[in-house]
Amino acid sequence: MPPSSPIRWGLIGASNIARQYMINAINSQPNSTVTAVMSHNPAHAAQFARDHAIPNAYSSVDDLLADPAVDAVYISSTNEKHHPQALAAAAAGKHILCEKPLALTMADAQEMVAAAANANVVMGTNHHLRNAATHRTLRRLIAEGTIGKPLAVRVFHAIYLPAFLQTWRVDAPAAGGGVILDITVHDADTLRFLLDDEVVGVTAVSTSQGMTSNNLTDGVMGVMQFRSGCLAQFHDAFTIAHARTGLEIHGTTGSLIAENVMTQQPVGTVTLRRSGESQPVNWGEPEDLYIHAVRHFNQAITDHAAGKNGRPWATAEDGLRSLAIALAVQESAAKGKFIEIGD
Ligand code: NDP
Repeated sequence: MPPSSPIRWGLIGASNIARQYMINAINSQPNSTVTAVMSHNPAHAAQFARDHAIPNAYSSVDDLLADPAVDAVYISSTNEKHHPQALAAAAAGKHILCEKPLALTMADAQEMVAAAANANVVMGTNHHLRNAATHRTLRRLIAEGTIGKPLAVRVFHAIYLPAFLQTWRVDAPAAGGGVILDITVHDADTLRFLLDDEVVGVTAVSTSQGMTSNNLTDGVMGVMQFRSGCLAQFHDAFTIAHARTGLEIHGTTGSLIAENVMTQQPVGTVTLRRSGESQPVNWGEPEDLYIHAVRHFNQAITDHAAGKNGRPWATAEDGLRSLAIALAVQESAAKGKFIEIGD
């Protein structure tokens, strides 16, 4: 059956990320529109709907899912709610784009992915960074052998968490707060995408340096070991106000240096260093990362309806992998030992 035209999206979670990026991303597409929003707080749901010209506001997930005008849901609630909400959405036959981390445990995340597969709906993970033209260019250059075999990566993803986001992220373990589930999970996905490789183990040390409470961490440094033997060092934080973001990939015949690319904006520079020379890399036209993600999710729904393999830019399985890595980083930091990641 062809999808409705346009594809009608329901927002589960009247969140900042929906407000700042995703409503625009969905409504900017000729083949999709936001038709409903749900927040447990009815006044917040109603105000959010008014502010963004969303036709329907609901205060329960069941009510939003019972709306036959909703074809797909975007889940951007706090992290502990992703699991029950995704299960309910799958049971209602809605396609699911879920925020990261998919869940707080692997068992929950696996149940979500299985439920979506059993319900024959498309499911994806909203890892925005792999949508950036910079990262897509880096992946292509690495695959083409531009720097030879990747040996080492350094990730700089320490930022200062803006005051308006210093809520559940900094004080609510039950909601899945802390820097590792917030930022390291994105590093994990980005590196898997860039290197086309899998992480086999991690070691990490984390800290709380004043922004977080209740045993949540606001800084972490560590190393991911890839199947190929490549090592990736990462630094993620909520507390660092004046650092730059970026990453460096060092191969046997060259290095790629990407600055200001661990960001939600379509910006940054990429430099190729080879044979003692540095040259800027043209990474093409900037495109909003979230628009790129939604465009591909809409296409996945269209392909799925045509009986083809509808594949979001970041799949549900990508979300499982990034969660496994983030949870291993948490475990390594807690236990002070190297944690292997199985298949
Ligand atoms: P918010 O803190 O903005 O919102 C989370 C939930 O808090 C909402 O769904 C809502 O609960 C409740 N809430 C927020 N504001 C109000 C309010 N004024 N009144 C009442 N309730 C309110 O979350 P974020 O946007 O920061 O993050 C949401 C999810 O998105 C997380 O999973 C996060 O990890 C992910 N994220 C992903 C990003 C990416 O680039 N991929 C970037 C930022 C976040 P409810 O509607 O359930 O009642």
